[in-house]
Amino acid sequence: MRSKDKIAYFYDGDVGSVYFGPNHPMKPHRLCMTHHLVLSYDLHKKMEIYRPHKAYPSELAQFHSEDYVEFLHRIRPDTQNSFRTELARFNLGEDCPVFENLFEFCQIYAGGTIDAARRLNNQLCDVAINWAGGLHHAKKCEASGFCYINDLVLGILELLKHHARVLYIDIDVHHGDGVEEAFYFTDRVMTVSFHKFGDLFFPGTGDVKEIGEKEGKFYAINVPLKDGIDDTSFTRLFKTIISKVIEIYQPSSIVLQCGADSLAGDRLGCFNLSIDGHAECVKFVKKFNLPLLVTGGGGYTKENVARCWTVETGVLLDTELPNKIPENEYLEYFAPDYSLKIPSRLIENFNSKSYLSTIKVQVMENLRHIQHAPSVQMQEVPPDFYIPDFDEDEQNPDERMDQHTQDKQIQRDDEYYNGDNDNDHPAGS
Ligand SMILES: [Zn+2]
Repeated sequence: MRSKDKIAYFYDGDVGSVYFGPNHPMKPHRLCMTHHLVLSYDLHKKMEIYRPHKAYPSELAQFHSEDYVEFLHRIRPDTQNSFRTELARFNLGEDCPVFENLFEFCQIYAGGTIDAARRLNNQLCDVAINWAGGLHHAKKCEASGFCYINDLVLGILELLKHHARVLYIDIDVHHGDGVEEAFYFTDRVMTVSFHKFGDLFFPGTGDVKEIGEKEGKFYAINVPLKDGIDDTSFTRLFKTIISKVIEIYQPSSIVLQCGADSLAGDRLGCFNLSIDGHAECVKFVKKFNLPLLVTGGGGYTKENVARCWTVETGVLLDTELPNKIPENEYLEYFAPDYSLKIPSRLIENFNSKSYLSTIKVQVMENLRHIQHAPSVQMQEVPPDFYIPDFDEDEQNPDERMDQHTQDKQIQRDDEYYNGDNDNDHPAGS
């Protein structure tokens, strides 16, 4: 392992201040909580902190259709009733509501993942983190499962300008369908998703038999799991599959989606991972010493999301964190024990040894079809700049936050507080 990796961390407090609505399980406030917990452990002193640029509409349209991007830019909560046809067409409404500053929210989290990819491309860091990103369900022309813009696809497209093969790994409890779909027909991106499958669990795709098509055949891997999977079964399967994938596919960079809804006790999830089990996957991927882009994703028990992504920031910095949470703005959320780690729970693991073995054998069998790394030629590398085609506020892309900016930002975060609400959302994802 390299002794001193350079880590770039992207954060803009504005992303944590938007509000999906009182009954919606997605609470962007979890991002403020994560950031404050990271600061309370002094992890910001060990990495470079950047405020991401707000992605231009033209950047978002590198994957999404222009009319969808234009509609997201234009729609407001107070005018949405006049656009019922478009709302239905773009799947906006209950799961993916229109809220105040929706477009800016998308620009920030997508800008973070794009900036992260660019810093990796330019070899300015070894690992880039954007906990606000990881919205893996968004499709080319529609929102899905609380996701509007698919920042992961945009980040991977950016990496493909410099990297012949990109490996995408997804440990969110939900299938990474939007990313898989975007690269289903190509061998330049291999997608590997570990997720709950069956019982009509959202989004319903991700069977082990979905393996990609045409050039992309055998370059999509799905690991469908049942309720209650524990650390031992999950990490064993994860390590076996990921080490084989890396050996055979030989990616030159990796994107890791760390959805925290696979943790025990998640409001929407059904797995039984402890934070240590979840973080073990991050530690394992880091050991391959490939340029690594790490994002967040789902996660609906927000104090555990903050705990998990803080521990994983520590893992990426090779820093063990004391279990007692230091004083910070949101300390009361971590009551009563104020401890960083959460254990798994005493619930049944419905993944029998024989079931897991069958899945593993099928995945390995599919991998045997890729005997050698595909001989992808490097394409001409397009320039790394864009000319905005909409009126945008003046921005300074890739702006490094100085201490003053950080302090100002922390102050601003504190002004926001989005109350939680335990009413269940009718259609979770
Ligand atoms: Zn999820």
